[in-house]
Amino acid sequence: MKILVIGAGPAGLIFASQMKQAKPDWDISIAEKNTQEEVPGWGVVLPGRPPRHPANPLSYLEQPELLNPQFIEEFKLVHNNQPNLMSTGITLCGVERRALVQALRAKCVAAGITINYETPLASTAQLEAEYDLVVVSNGVNHKSVELPPALTPQIDFGRNKYIWYGTKQRFDQMNLVFRSNANGIFIGHAYKYSDTMSTFIVECDEQTYAKAELEMRSESQVAAYLAKTFEAELGEHELISQPGQGWRTFMDLGHDLAYDGKFVLIGDALQSGHFSIGHGTTMAVTVALLLVKTLSAEADTAAALENFNSRVVPLVQLFKNHANSSRLWFESVGERIGLSNEDLTASFDARRNNFPPLQDALMGTLGYALGR
Ligand SMILES: Cc1cc2nc3c(=O)[nH]c(=O)nc-3n(C[C@H](O)[C@H](O)[C@H](O)COP(=O)(O)OP(=O)(O)OC[C@H]3O[C@@H](n4cnc5c(N)ncnc54)[C@H](O)[C@@H]3O)c2cc1C
Repeated sequence: MKILVIGAGPAGLIFASQMKQAKPDWDISIAEKNTQEEVPGWGVVLPGRPPRHPANPLSYLEQPELLNPQFIEEFKLVHNNQPNLMSTGITLCGVERRALVQALRAKCVAAGITINYETPLASTAQLEAEYDLVVVSNGVNHKSVELPPALTPQIDFGRNKYIWYGTKQRFDQMNLVFRSNANGIFIGHAYKYSDTMSTFIVECDEQTYAKAELEMRSESQVAAYLAKTFEAELGEHELISQPGQGWRTFMDLGHDLAYDGKFVLIGDALQSGHFSIGHGTTMAVTVALLLVKTLSAEADTAAALENFNSRVVPLVQLFKNHANSSRLWFESVGERIGLSNEDLTASFDARRNNFPPLQDALMGTLGYALGR
């Protein structure tokens, strides 16, 4: 079996390394459009303590402690300048995205998988002729690969603007901070991901963005303005930006079909969901493991992909319902900003209650994928 994986992010890397482990004689290679050094983004939170949690990609590394993971047990909501402290319910693991991706890449290379960086892709017809299977894991960069028409994504853009910073301030809890000023409401999402660094994401609606004239300001002026807005949290610490990580609008990408012919989608290429539920990498790992299981269990690739599709589509739908509900809650927070701390916290907690728990569906899929 000759497989090409498009995209060396968490989804493609977990798929490739675990597939190679299950089928050592299969020929697996990865094409990555960026250079080896280029891994955008700061820290992410993952579920559980490695090696125990199967959806935490660190669980698949021999020495996860080398990535300096930070464990988080508490959630802090700050509103009206007052903190509300709660348990996160499950241990969360903050880690630098770049360190995680580089460690997974090293694992793939050690297993005999070639990663070709900065290589232009062949046409769909050429890929079909050359490979038995093409695993598309190029994230939300859907325009970067030509796919069969049946795999054209449904795309929806969020209404809020967000910007992803790093900071040397340490946030020991998962922080959700609401700060209002004359221009509107700014929401900060912050958590530690190494001994010295934290992620700090700022979100605001388009009116606030326009009123604060953020478009007219330089990168450093925006960072200074937001650091001042969140001065109570950041103290003297700066917000540090990365090249190419300016203001964005969240892109919700989805599919009703996970494969067509020899092309199969995993990770954000299959579905993306708002960062406020923090499950993007968990979904990427779970779906990659499910694909490994279905391909390992079934000699006929078409039947394996049909089995994969029938299991993954309901999971993706549930994930999207949770993520969209959460995104909409943040986009309409102005309607609730007059609530007390307790009532805002209760509303935040209840924002995904209309749907069956995502955790149960993820654990069910992981149980099947790992044969438990
Ligand atoms: C602000 C923000 C915060 C987030 N926080 C969290 C969090 O705390 N926890 C969490 O679990 N998730 C979080 N996520 C989501 C998480 O980052 C993604 O869900 C996860 O990275 C998906 O992995 P992936 O491998 O599918 O895609 P990606 O990580 O996007 O990797 C895709 C790879 O494909 C490459 N590529 C693109 N096009 C091509 C091409 N044509 N050819 C070859 N290679 C290509 C890219 O360069 C990249 O390396 C966050 C996302 C955002 C935006």
